[in-house]
Amino acid sequence: MDLLEARERMVIEQLESRGISDARVLDAMRAVARDRFIPPEFIDHAYDDGPLPIGSEQTISQPYMVALMSEVAALTGGERILEIGTGSGYQAAVLARLAAQVYSVETIPGLHDRARVILAAMGYNNIHLRVSDGSDGWPEQAPYDAIIVTAAMPGVARPLLDQLAPGGRLIAPIGEDELQTLVRLSRVNGEWREDYFGECRFVKMTGKLGFQD
Ligand code: SAH
Repeated sequence: MDLLEARERMVIEQLESRGISDARVLDAMRAVARDRFIPPEFIDHAYDDGPLPIGSEQTISQPYMVALMSEVAALTGGERILEIGTGSGYQAAVLARLAAQVYSVETIPGLHDRARVILAAMGYNNIHLRVSDGSDGWPEQAPYDAIIVTAAMPGVARPLLDQLAPGGRLIAPIGEDELQTLVRLSRVNGEWREDYFGECRFVKMTGKLGFQD
């Protein structure tokens, strides 16, 4: 099947059918060629309904999970975003179409370099990457309207909450190393509110806020 056709089918069959309804998110998922982020040997699976290996024992997330995290971030276009876990760069590319500036950190230099090359070739100029432990956020560029964590965290990351702007939200898979819940933390009238968006399975976060093993 043609990759463009496969992408369109992915949007209809994996996203719309499961309730993704933000038109901007659906447009971004239609616009970003996931196949550009996939190692050549998996190209026939570029629009499959699941994660795929990208090397260094890491994965590019399932399209639905990228869309869901983007939707629950409730972006309107002017936001500054911090992503933790650049991985392939795919989620960063989707976010770059939904917000003004995307900052993304990755601990593995090889993945950072790979994502940098792909994103530059695609022409994105509002994505800023660096190699660092996401446990520290990226304080020099704070505050952020949304922080999106794309690796599993064992608990709520208080240090990250300090880098949110008023009205900001943190979206993260929080739980055990094998299974997490997608959580959104947002400050409403001075109180932290938690919303839950179902179970998910992400690769483990490493570093100070990650799983220590
Ligand atoms: N968002 C990615 C998927 C990322 S997979 C995409 O769209 O492809 C999770 C990534 O988080 C992995 O690349 C892993 O190396 C990275 N990671 C794990 N712990 C991290 C930490 N403490 N700081 C930054 N990145 C981390």
